[in-house]
Amino acid sequence: ESEKVQRNLELILKARGYEKEAKVIKTGCFGFCEQGPIVKIEPENVFYVRVNPKDAKDIIDEHIIKGRKVERLLYKEPFEKKKIDIQENIPFYKKQLRIALRNCGLINPEDIYEYIALGGYEALGKAITKMSRDKVIETIKKSKLRGRGGGGFPTGIKWEIAKKQKNPVKFIVCNADEGDPGAFMDRSILEGDPHSVIEAMAIGGYAIGAEKGIIYIRAEYPLAIKRLKTALTQARELGLLGKNIFDSDFSFDIDIKYGAGAFVCGEETALINSCEGKRGEPNYKPPYPAEEGYWGYPTCVNNVETLSNIPPIIAKGADWFCSIGTENSKGTKVFALAGKINNVGLVEVPMGITLREIIYDIGGGIQGGKKFKAVQTGGPSGGVITENELDTPIDYDSLASIGSMMGSGGMIVMDETDNMVDIAKFYLEFTMDESCGRCTPCRIGTKRLYEMLNKITDGKATMADLDAMKQLAYMIKDSSLCGLGQTAPNPVISTMKYFWDEYLAFIKDID
Ligand code: SF4
Repeated sequence: ESEKVQRNLELILKARGYEKEAKVIKTGCFGFCEQGPIVKIEPENVFYVRVNPKDAKDIIDEHIIKGRKVERLLYKEPFEKKKIDIQENIPFYKKQLRIALRNCGLINPEDIYEYIALGGYEALGKAITKMSRDKVIETIKKSKLRGRGGGGFPTGIKWEIAKKQKNPVKFIVCNADEGDPGAFMDRSILEGDPHSVIEAMAIGGYAIGAEKGIIYIRAEYPLAIKRLKTALTQARELGLLGKNIFDSDFSFDIDIKYGAGAFVCGEETALINSCEGKRGEPNYKPPYPAEEGYWGYPTCVNNVETLSNIPPIIAKGADWFCSIGTENSKGTKVFALAGKINNVGLVEVPMGITLREIIYDIGGGIQGGKKFKAVQTGGPSGGVITENELDTPIDYDSLASIGSMMGSGGMIVMDETDNMVDIAKFYLEFTMDESCGRCTPCRIGTKRLYEMLNKITDGKATMADLDAMKQLAYMIKDSSLCGLGQTAPNPVISTMKYFWDEYLAFIKDID
């Protein structure tokens, strides 16, 4: 639909002879999926929502030629019934702070000069020409940036470990194997701002002493791959990748490798095995990839969103980044809001904001005026959060303390009509299917757990089955080899904790 809107805008501009006065630029995602397709008129900053191809005529004839806003295409505030014309004034955007998504919806991702015009590649120039490798790592450490892929490991420390390795050959790998159901943060960044990731990888390569980077991306992201390839070619043409970048002795380039959609390949050792052409199965750790990774060489694996934070940190300094967020979780986090929420979309919020603010102020509350029941953060690895915890600030530690996790940023909202045993079953079915089969607790355990859940929902289980299921869930958690198995029972454990009544309702030996 967006492409048809774009084509019509271009055709009508041409037909009216206005192609020199106005230009149609295709950007990345604005994040407000619920209101798309979106057309933004610059420099007036007027934001049109739910535009269909037929609206192109009014946008050109009324707005571009006559200078009058097309009122019916403005965002309408559902509760106050007023229309809002400026993006920043729309409640969905008001509490957001965009660092990782800073250029998405703003620039043409296929034009490197638009990225450069907004300060792109300045951080790389600053790092290479004005900072030592240690100083770059020190800055990232001081910023307290933590991995956004789910683990939350401090990025600067990972870089430091890789740099300290004696082996002169090192690699930096971008993990773009986004696999959580309903999550599309990484895809959006790569589609909307691919140069931010390329620039960050070059900075990381310089810091740790790597001359080669690899972007491991799932093959199901064709637009992201296309834009990445275009961006890599443009960066090479301008000498921002390749030999002697900024006339220094630092050379760096990036290859793309494709994943086939296995969830487990988001785990860094499985990802590295897949890059090497082996089965995408996790390895025992240690050694960690930063010590021995791709073909045995020290390898830093960083997630897309983590990387997109790097250029602004180098450009603006660690103190600026540290001024945002909470004590142990600095900066922002991108979430994919989905499920029974009014404003489905992609949001970036400062750490420390509460779940209530995300769900009600940004997300616009629950669809159809229904009652909120729970929200699942952390995708299939996380747990449910209930009404009682909605005022919990979003940061790594707070979410863990209430039995969930930050994860990579999937946030699925459930309403009063959802049955939580079914929800647990949905997530467990996903992880059971995605188990790579390497270790028994996960391979067999998730299947048995799933069978037990089916027995419950079929009304054939007893209290003894519930006890056995709880025991099995903890056994899988404690004895699986990698994060997938260790976290697979989380949806079961957390729904049993918070929605025990819903399990009991299925049990046959209870009066
Ligand atoms: Fe494979 Fe599951 Fe074991 Fe991880 S926990 S290694 S996904 S079988």
